[in-house]
Amino acid sequence: MRQSQLFTKTRKEAPSDEVSKNAQLLIRAGFIHKEMAGVYDYLPLGLRVINNLRKIIGEEMQSIGSQEVSLSTLQDPEIWKATDRWDDEKVDVWFKTKLKNDTELGLGCTHEEPMVKMMKDHVSSYRDLPRYTHQFQTKFRNELRAKSGIMRGREFFMKDMYSFNKTQEDLDEFYEKVIVAYKNVYNRAGIGDKSYLTFASGGMFSKFSHEFQTICDAGEDHIYIDKEKNMAVNDEVMQDQILQNLGLIRENLVEAKSIEVGNIFKYGTRYTSELGLVFKDEDGSEKTVVLGAYGIGLGRLMGTIVELLSDDKGIIWPKEVSPFTVHLVRLGENSTVVSAADNLYADLIKRGVEVLYDDRDLRPGEKFADSDLIGIPVRFVVSEKTIAENKVEVKYRTETDSKLISKEEALNLI
Ligand code: ATP
Ligand code: MG
Repeated sequence: MRQSQLFTKTRKEAPSDEVSKNAQLLIRAGFIHKEMAGVYDYLPLGLRVINNLRKIIGEEMQSIGSQEVSLSTLQDPEIWKATDRWDDEKVDVWFKTKLKNDTELGLGCTHEEPMVKMMKDHVSSYRDLPRYTHQFQTKFRNELRAKSGIMRGREFFMKDMYSFNKTQEDLDEFYEKVIVAYKNVYNRAGIGDKSYLTFASGGMFSKFSHEFQTICDAGEDHIYIDKEKNMAVNDEVMQDQILQNLGLIRENLVEAKSIEVGNIFKYGTRYTSELGLVFKDEDGSEKTVVLGAYGIGLGRLMGTIVELLSDDKGIIWPKEVSPFTVHLVRLGENSTVVSAADNLYADLIKRGVEVLYDDRDLRPGEKFADSDLIGIPVRFVVSEKTIAENKVEVKYRTETDSKLISKEEALNLI
């Protein structure tokens, strides 16, 4: 993409109404637009990042056998009443609305109920199980506080996956695969080294659920880490008896502020029993389907990456997440420079490389400042100086020094 065509502008000053680093940087760099507290729009660069995260997560979910669906955001209160989750006392984040005839509707804050209800049309026998579904869907939550930028939106995009198994053992087995898939996601998203599988309270049907928590000072959560065992627990399970059961010693745990980047949960027959998702087993008996649910907030993940991977100049995107693979910056407007840069742009595109091409007539300082702010990990510079040496200048966003390489090397680098 030619940067002269990109409609978004960067800005030098952080917006005065944002306290979070992720929103400040993403607004300054033109990735997102703020509508109001907790409500953000994704602009071309931001949407490319979201789509990259969606691709990573989608590939990992597919690799463990999940099929992508998309359920409606409009929710029928009846199924939520059946599971006792319609009452505002029980779920305090509902956005509710009404049809013209006064019938109440909900705007989905999660999708266990409609997903289970939908499955009733497609599961009746043990032969129909296991089944795994996931979607990338908008959730609405009337969050009390929305001061963490895109990490806590009142409308946000979530990947939610659901598992439908015959037995608790089958669920246990799938759950372990999900843990591996989630770790792959956080590794590919560049925050794996700071992310911990964290024990959280489990509710009725299993001892624990798990959160994926990423250590970060901007986090709203606290976790307690045993670095040697590579394990963490959250506030809910910070009790002596539970620690003992997990083989952890309170004195060895280090407290850290953290961000919940994902949550996985074994529900057992919660929701499936209330909504009557049953199957006929091999022996002819009727059994209730065993449920698991697994969430990742895409905005939460994108915001976390920005919180962790940025410096005083701007964002530093990990390779797989970056809106473009290369930032090609042209310095100068004379025809030799223009045609050399245009040619390199064309050759990169021919090889399938995603390039942001800064073809704007601006001073070098402005171009480099924008380039650092936007944060694409690799920068190529074409200028009179590089042409005189028949070279291209390459600089990595994480490094301070640049070097001159041949065009051939530049093309092969990516
Ligand atoms: P929190 O405790 O932070 O409010 P939660 O327990 O309500 O999170 P879940 O219902 O488990 O979150 O949702 C699954 C995932 O969706 C979370 O792990 C997080 O990544 C993301 N998420 C939750 N709430 C938001 C939000 N308001 N904005 C963006 N992402 C969110
Ligand atoms: Mg919440």
